[in-house]
Amino acid sequence: MSQTAMSETYDFLFKFLVIGNAGTGKSCLLHQFIEKKFKDDSNHTIGVEFGSKIINVGGKYVKLQIWDTAGQERFRSVTRSYYRGAAGALLVYDITSRETYNALTNWLTDARMLASQSIVIILCGNKKDLDTDREVTFLEASRFAQENELMFLETSALTGENVEEAFVQCARKILNKIESGELDPERMGSGIQYGDAALRQLRSPRRTQAPSAQECGC
Ligand code: GDP
Ligand code: MG
Repeated sequence: MSQTAMSETYDFLFKFLVIGNAGTGKSCLLHQFIEKKFKDDSNHTIGVEFGSKIINVGGKYVKLQIWDTAGQERFRSVTRSYYRGAAGALLVYDITSRETYNALTNWLTDARMLASQSIVIILCGNKKDLDTDREVTFLEASRFAQENELMFLETSALTGENVEEAFVQCARKILNKIESGELDPERMGSGIQYGDAALRQLRSPRRTQAPSAQECGC
């Protein structure tokens, strides 16, 4: 198989969003995840709006298609179309800014209203490397996460700590929900698509037999 064909073989494609106040490090998190390096301010104007990467989650290849707000949040004008049909989201605040933490409730309300009902959200307390300037404790944020049924990690787009983990944990939870039947990839607006690899599996002889009672779901 050619390199390109291999790199485009995946089981699922998930649409992901990165949301949270301006300045919390969303673009840097996306850049660190895709490029594995810190985006310094010199390339600020390049404003990545979109990135994609295939990750391996427990043996399944998942292509993440990730949308960045591209500065819309500065004007409090993140559009409905940005949210539409997202399977997962990183909700980001800055651990050195209580203001960005206080804004989380508004972001959550929007995400749950405007994205897919079953969107899986991971809360990211970014700039973990700036511990001496911390305004929000780990404990406080983890309680908020628990109360709002969010996963939670503190991250650093600067050092790369927990950046890959945030995306992977969110993708793993979505996969688990697909496997348990809680999420149906075929439902409109689920933010999930089958990739070539999964389609091949579905069409393989093993799967053409009558579905078992468990699979049938009727
Ligand atoms: P956005 O507006 O949420 O997209 O935030 P940016 O990604 O543009 O980052 C805002 C500022 O925070 C920039 O000056 C970044 O260099 C800085 N920044 C982002 N992530 C981190 C981090 O993890 N640690 C530190 N120390 N600075 C960060
Ligand atoms: Mg940005």
